Amino acid sequence: MQSLIEYLRSATGGSLSLGVGVTLTVVLGLWALLESLRAVGRLYGDRQQQQASRQKLRAEVQEVKLRCRELEQSQAGWNGSRKFTVFKKVAECEDVNAFYLKPHDGRPLPAFKPGQYLTFQLDLPGRDKPLIRCYSLSDSPHQKDYYRVTIKKEKAPPDKPEWTHGAGSSYFTDVVKEGDILNVKAPTGHFFLDMTRMNPIVLIAGGVGITPMLCMANAIAASGSKREAWFFFGVRNQREHIHKAELETLAAEHENIHLHVCYSRPSPGEVKGKDYQHEGRVSIELLKELLPSNNFEYYLCGNGAFMKSITDGLEAWGVPEKDVHFEAFGPATVKKKTVAPTASETVHLAKLEVTFSRTGKTVRWEPSAGNLLDFARSQNVKIDSGCCAGSCGSCSVAIKSGAVDYITPPTSTPEAGTCLTCVCRPKGNLVIDA
Ligand SMILES: Cc1cc2nc3c(=O)[nH]c(=O)nc-3n(C[C@H](O)[C@H](O)[C@H](O)COP(=O)(O)OP(=O)(O)OC[C@H]3O[C@@H](n4cnc5c(N)ncnc54)[C@H](O)[C@@H]3O)c2cc1C
Repeated sequence: MQSLIEYLRSATGGSLSLGVGVTLTVVLGLWALLESLRAVGRLYGDRQQQQASRQKLRAEVQEVKLRCRELEQSQAGWNGSRKFTVFKKVAECEDVNAFYLKPHDGRPLPAFKPGQYLTFQLDLPGRDKPLIRCYSLSDSPHQKDYYRVTIKKEKAPPDKPEWTHGAGSSYFTDVVKEGDILNVKAPTGHFFLDMTRMNPIVLIAGGVGITPMLCMANAIAASGSKREAWFFFGVRNQREHIHKAELETLAAEHENIHLHVCYSRPSPGEVKGKDYQHEGRVSIELLKELLPSNNFEYYLCGNGAFMKSITDGLEAWGVPEKDVHFEAFGPATVKKKTVAPTASETVHLAKLEVTFSRTGKTVRWEPSAGNLLDFARSQNVKIDSGCCAGSCGSCSVAIKSGAVDYITPPTSTPEAGTCLTCVCRPKGNLVIDA
């Protein structure tokens, strides 16, 4: 204390009172500065909080609006098929077209959940019954006036000249044109994003598997939500880069959507950092490198090998199974986990026989086949299929004797005396008309 007094005296030319005055002024000045800084900090924090609450409220309002539309429409009803006019067909990239559909009756459209799909009943020339095919909705559910699907023509590989190109996708690509009318069943499907939640998500798509993911990302953007979404998309190069401009605009306009496009075989002239972000395939290593942690909910859609490698990788990375959701566009290579049979059920199931009466085959049921459709395929018995989720009805076959158990509940009720083979297994010895 003594030394401080001495110091003040010397610093102010011997006047102690002047020294104390100067010190007090400095201290008061500092205090005032600190208080104003704190006030500015509080104001900024409050603003950010207000902004976040406003965004959350906006997202909730959008969601309530969607729910109201759903309610309105569920009351309006839409059972069976409804006629839709293709009012716009846009070539997206090689062999891929987007189809914009409006209800022919001009009545309002039901809302849907991002990730769901439409089921088309296509009247192809030369077929005695309609061909049933499912296509995911690719635009936001907030689009009230139209539905959009994006369809890739499934070509037979060049080394299989005896194969034909995919029937449904070729019909869409080569025959369907603007002004045509199609029979469409209402949106459905269990693979969708819950828009009432705000948890961070990772969307992973390969090729045309982009469609449900784009819908999810569009839904987040259109709702005004700031929900964090990492979006990984793998294709060979720009020729396969579906909805390129739309994806880039989404990412540029929404800082919560982190887009990472991977080209496995970039063509000359395609620029890394502009056309795509990474060379190679979407892989678990890339996810580990870029994601801040594994603590996300994951949504996947792509071909079998792609989904298998990512789901295996996520499991090994410690991501709980409940946080990984996927959609298969064809026969499932990643098996959906279902209620496992008990030990005694397994013994019982392994003794069962399935007879395909038309093909004239009786074979021992293999529990590892999972469902009757996959089992029939493994025995080279042809059964039509569509959604592989118990919804579209195209895999329905008549039961001649016996009964089935449903592994996952079908979303549409099977006709009496038939079963939906994609979601059932035999209960006892079974004879089916296939
Ligand atoms: C829920 C769901 C959503 C979907 N969403 C989309 C989507 O958004 N966009 C999209 O493009 N697709 C989507 N699909 C896939 C779509 O439903 C069709 O499966 C796809 O278009 C192929 O149908 P197709 O009638 O053209 O081919 P199919 O006629 O069923 O033929 C399938 C494949 O078999 C090949 N083939 C032909 N002859 C033989 C033979 N002798 N032996 C072996 N193979 C042969 C064909 O070349 C073709 O590649 C979705 C599927 C599901 C289940």
